Amino acid sequence: MKNKKSFLDYMWILSITYFSLGFFNILFAWLGLLAFLTPIIISVLGGGKSYCNIYCGRGQLFNFLGDKLKLSRYKPMPKFLKSNLFRYGFLTFFLTMFGIMLFNTYLVFAGASSLKEVLTLLWTFKLPWEITNPNLVSPWIYQFAFGFYSMMLTSTILGLVTMLLFKPRSWCVYCPMGTMTQLISKAKFNPNK
Ligand code: SF4
Repeated sequence: MKNKKSFLDYMWILSITYFSLGFFNILFAWLGLLAFLTPIIISVLGGGKSYCNIYCGRGQLFNFLGDKLKLSRYKPMPKFLKSNLFRYGFLTFFLTMFGIMLFNTYLVFAGASSLKEVLTLLWTFKLPWEITNPNLVSPWIYQFAFGFYSMMLTSTILGLVTMLLFKPRSWCVYCPMGTMTQLISKAKFNPNK
């Protein structure tokens, strides 16, 4: 039991490893689907927010940087960032961007568009990113990797900024995965609310 606990305390290392592997080879971005699908599966199966509370490496990473390394200002978040309007609005925006990313992947899959070797940070800034082994897999597999890795980096940048400005895990207040698992849990256990 002690070993299990200590292993789960170090999930933040997996988060750092994920981003490092992505820099080494963009195809590792696909591994991020685990962090995307696992919280949803756990909450659909009735586990509520256990992913957030126990397994999320990113949440732990913000805690580690903000709390252990004392990088956080530990200030309260502005009220509007905590409001349902902002949280649900951000979730909608995030899912829309996710849908656009999937559509771009489909266009490459269908041959209607060519592969764009670029990371897009904060849905705005383009960072050219050359792949070293372009013929390893189909272009659409690379396109998804670029899109998904951009999304993972963007959410981590936003999380880091809010960690620095406010409290270590302020990102968790409006994290789309957290909002989604909360909505699923509410629908499952309090369907009338
Ligand atoms: S809210 Fe998001 S970042 Fe925070 S613990 Fe949950 S999944 Fe991780």
